[in-house]
Amino acid sequence: MMLGFLLARAGIPVTVLEKHVDFLRDFRGDTVHPSTLEIMHELGLLEEFLKLPHSTVRQVSMQIGKDRVVIGHFEHLPVHCKFIALMPQWDFLNFIAEHARRYQTFDLRMRAEATGLIEENGRIVGVRARTPDGELEVRAELTVGCDGRHSIVRAKARLESDEYGAPMDVMWFRLSRKRGDTEETVGHVENGRMIVMLNRNEYWQCAYVIPKGSADEVQRAGLDKFRQAVGEMSPFTRDRLDEIDSWDKVKLLTVAVDRLRRWYRPGLLCIGDAAHAMSPIGGVGINLAVQDAVAAANILADPLRRAAVTIEMLKKVQDRREFPTRFTQRLQIVIQNNIISPALSGTRPSAPFIMKMMQWPLLRRIPGRVMALGIRPEHVRTPEMAPARNSTA
Ligand SMILES: Cc1cc2nc3c(=O)[nH]c(=O)nc-3n(C[C@H](O)[C@H](O)[C@H](O)COP(=O)(O)OP(=O)(O)OC[C@H]3O[C@@H](n4cnc5c(N)ncnc54)[C@H](O)[C@@H]3O)c2cc1C
Repeated sequence: MMLGFLLARAGIPVTVLEKHVDFLRDFRGDTVHPSTLEIMHELGLLEEFLKLPHSTVRQVSMQIGKDRVVIGHFEHLPVHCKFIALMPQWDFLNFIAEHARRYQTFDLRMRAEATGLIEENGRIVGVRARTPDGELEVRAELTVGCDGRHSIVRAKARLESDEYGAPMDVMWFRLSRKRGDTEETVGHVENGRMIVMLNRNEYWQCAYVIPKGSADEVQRAGLDKFRQAVGEMSPFTRDRLDEIDSWDKVKLLTVAVDRLRRWYRPGLLCIGDAAHAMSPIGGVGINLAVQDAVAAANILADPLRRAAVTIEMLKKVQDRREFPTRFTQRLQIVIQNNIISPALSGTRPSAPFIMKMMQWPLLRRIPGRVMALGIRPEHVRTPEMAPARNSTA
């Protein structure tokens, strides 16, 4: 959506296909990091964006066994928003879509599910999609696969990926917030268990982390056991655990970490989770996808305008974004192996030395900066060239 918006804004005709009827999905992350908020500022949209309901996180901390460690401080960042905005992904996507629709060059087709690629002489020249009105063919100078971790585009393009594995899956649910509850977003790691609770003003968005593939076992043990485990991890929620009165209120999300070796083919590029599925650790996935979009627009807007996108230009996008992705995934894997795996296997966890070291005043800025801004932050370089619909005759 972000790439579609940036290209349409730069005067390039774009068609975005979305298979669902709307963006209302089960929870899959709603952490809008300072890097993305800075992009909104560069687009002149920040003020309006922050009028949408959201909560803010200025510090992220975690209880690992007996150790309480702060893993992200944001107050020192050289940006306009020194906080993470927690906003449902559908509000974020609707906001971008609404602004993109102002440009005549933007065409969003809901309920259009990409099913295959159109290939001519070794070059991808478009996609086939299923719509309620029958099959649709969209031909384009460039096709971009941004259809997430189960990308059909990457599969059809036969792009090879490396799997890095994840030791956990996540069960998401909500609990109401009450007066007197802590303001902070908290994580708690205990023998064999882990929970993360995001403060969403009226409610807690809770992530109960389980060993990979063990969801059936957790369900078989029953809701009482599940509620009891949550209560033991977060005692202050005990007075409202009856809100989890059915498994329908607990959504399983399977975690994957992978990365394409090559993100492109002639006429085709993958970005976001389609190029590199991210672990939920650090809540960076949405933000990395947005950064990919900004980089892709910066590099490709001009050649797209001239209908002269070469394979070298697509390679340039991967070259630009691969290092930040690789670095971030590496960090996620280190955390998975050193904190999450031992915690889920029942070993008494404690904060690794490096994490304790990062509590020292001189070093404590580093993890917050990496989490909030990532490596090699992108900036909007594409101009606004297209006339907005409401400003033209
Ligand atoms: C359990 C869990 C928790 C997470 N928590 C966070 C978090 O807190 N913060 C964070 O930043 N990241 C989080 N992530 C990661 C984050 O969800 C992704 O990294 C991010 O959404 C990637 O964005 P994307 O646009 O590449 O793909 P997606 O957000 O997956 O978007 C893909 C879009 O393509 C559509 N689509 C799919 N197939 C087709 C098709 N064939 N045709 C047309 N449309 C199609 C989908 O409906 C969807 O709208 C989490 C992930 C998991 C699994």
